[in-house]
Amino acid sequence: MVKSKGRKVSRPYGVPAIARLLSDGRSVGRANLRRFVARFAARFVTRFATLLVMTAACTVARAESDWVLVIHGGAGVIERGDMSAEQEQSIRAALQLALQRGAEVLERGGSALDAVEQAVRVLEDDPQFNAGRGAVFTAQGVNELDAAIMDGQNRRAGAVADVTRTRNPVSLARAVMEKSPHVMLVGAGADKFSKEAGLQQVDSRYFFTPRRWRELQEFLHPGAGHARSAGGPPIAGDDLHGTVGAVALDRNGHLAAATSTGGLTGKRWGRVGDSPIIGAGTYADDRACAVSATGSGEYYIREGVAHEICARMRFLKESPQQAADAVQAETRSLGGDGGVIVLGQDGSSAWSFNTIGMYRGRVSARSKPQVAIYAQE
Ligand code: ASP
Repeated sequence: MVKSKGRKVSRPYGVPAIARLLSDGRSVGRANLRRFVARFAARFVTRFATLLVMTAACTVARAESDWVLVIHGGAGVIERGDMSAEQEQSIRAALQLALQRGAEVLERGGSALDAVEQAVRVLEDDPQFNAGRGAVFTAQGVNELDAAIMDGQNRRAGAVADVTRTRNPVSLARAVMEKSPHVMLVGAGADKFSKEAGLQQVDSRYFFTPRRWRELQEFLHPGAGHARSAGGPPIAGDDLHGTVGAVALDRNGHLAAATSTGGLTGKRWGRVGDSPIIGAGTYADDRACAVSATGSGEYYIREGVAHEICARMRFLKESPQQAADAVQAETRSLGGDGGVIVLGQDGSSAWSFNTIGMYRGRVSARSKPQVAIYAQE
């Protein structure tokens, strides 16, 4: 700094100074010029070094940032006493396994996209949930599976509906996103794409489970009392939306969401619910949040639940809990029931359901896995 008429002014080392030097070279001696160049270089080096240190600090902070995974296995009328201790234990173990599989991906620095896919695959392979292996039956006695996945980093998405031969529909949804120019494929075309893309194919008998069959009979012939009295946790029909889903935040700050379902017991006419509809049952956007829903799909579609929650967080700056509760209340006022899991870009998360219970779980880099079933836990 130099003093000029009592005021401190900065010595000009920037581009204007160089221009002045060049245009008025005669008034500057060689010594002055050398001093100027030396000072200019010193300041440049100092600033560049500071910038490098700051960039490195940011990178370290990112590398050490937390990851979070939240999952669900459906919401509905799940009351204490509905299940035997063994059945409850089995559900909790399955949720734990899904958390563990996703956590392994995130802990080693893997992507949120990989984590949600892996977590959902575990639940798809478990006949206790209404997705993949344990999918409910349509009125025609077949299984038509829906799934979606979304990458919050670039808002790329993939979805499938009414597929019948793919063991893990969530991975097929991902293949649609990564190996086709489309977002959503349905029915026979999606089955064909699945084969061509090399996804594992299974015989339709793979999806046959006696319990789901009994539930269909109860649906088609009400009053026979097959489903609940046959033992086992309530899963289908109006009692429970057994869809599975996951949302994750990875160490690089990216969000992803995935949802997979068999839909509703006794569905007809190629009915598709909210789960594979981007913005209804599934959504992820690094600017806001990741959401996976389970519930009466028609209402979740009409409310655009998943996108609505993200929009509230993005524009109203609401927390995941505030946004989820508000949208759940709106959906309820239309007549819809169910639940959502929500994860914000800062790692804050929420679940919100207007049913009695919801199969759910959460784990993060800093917290142990937690699974829950009933509202009060
Ligand atoms: N939301 C799903 C659907 O409407 C059902 C569920 O969540 O179980 O297809």
